[in-house]
Amino acid sequence: MSSSRAANPATDPAASRPSVTFPHRHLLGIEGLSAPDIALLLDHSDHYVDLNRAVEKKQSSLRGRTIINLFFENSTRTRTSFELAGKRLGADVINMSVATSSVKKGETLIDTAITLNAMHPDLLVVRHQDSGAVALLAQKVGCGVINGGDGSHEHPTQALLDALTIRRRKGSLEGLLVAICGDILHSRVARSNIHLLNTMGARVRLIAPPTLLPAYAENLGVEVFHDMRKGLTDVDIVMMLRLQMERFHGAFVPSTREYFHFYGLDYAKLSFAKPDALIMHPGPMNRGVEIDTEVADDIHRSVIHEQVEMGVAVRMACLELLARHLPNWRGTTPPGL
Ligand code: ASP
Repeated sequence: MSSSRAANPATDPAASRPSVTFPHRHLLGIEGLSAPDIALLLDHSDHYVDLNRAVEKKQSSLRGRTIINLFFENSTRTRTSFELAGKRLGADVINMSVATSSVKKGETLIDTAITLNAMHPDLLVVRHQDSGAVALLAQKVGCGVINGGDGSHEHPTQALLDALTIRRRKGSLEGLLVAICGDILHSRVARSNIHLLNTMGARVRLIAPPTLLPAYAENLGVEVFHDMRKGLTDVDIVMMLRLQMERFHGAFVPSTREYFHFYGLDYAKLSFAKPDALIMHPGPMNRGVEIDTEVADDIHRSVIHEQVEMGVAVRMACLELLARHLPNWRGTTPPGL
């Protein structure tokens, strides 16, 4: 497949690299991705970090393509980040707000998918409150689909941006000891990170009260702790999670004050981690609930803003690699793929 529009290697980092193919049409989760798949996504993202730090950020690899951001659940970071990513690659990006859509009038997820499909988008980014909804939708449309977070199931681009942040700081993921702390039960971020970190050779500890751990936690290839001090001992990375109260059906913690006392990250608990341990949080943060505000803002330890920066680069990489499966890709994909 070739196109008459030649890419310019001087302005387009993708054009200067050999053709690579991501062997999946959709990005629905980290589960099922191989270590080389993940490494490819991260290597590709690294190029976009450099591009995003340059004065001229725009390139044209997705020119003429349409991306629809279909968000059934609220989002600040993820939606903005995908929008910016698509625009920096030259695509037309449409944000579909569910509050003003026919979904509110009773249209089913599948009807919405079929309606959008008729508008010929090239890529759909979907966030939905139900686990599995994005995979279902992907079966009904003709374009590539990226999971922007489905229920408490997966949030693959979050795990990828976390991995990119860690890899750029620590050089590699292999052999690192990573603690994921807090509301594991409701967290798609935790699930995607566990799959990714295990696949890339890191060791994962989950630290949470028993009420906020899924019953199958022990089968995830992780170590489980209920005590922050023990769990944080000698870790390289401290990944804090938000208490996802919107998904609580019942009382999972006695009070947020008590939760902070036992599970909130403060300097006393952090002192058990390695002295150069990084502090991470996917956002939005509940300051004073799962993380002390000073710790969150500690410029020497916290990489929370860097995670947001990496998010744009990772989403550019995901969009671009999936777009390589689209018809009339400009010729960098080998024939037959
Ligand atoms: N932003 C992340 C998510 O969408 C984490 C969170 O909301 O707590 O899952």
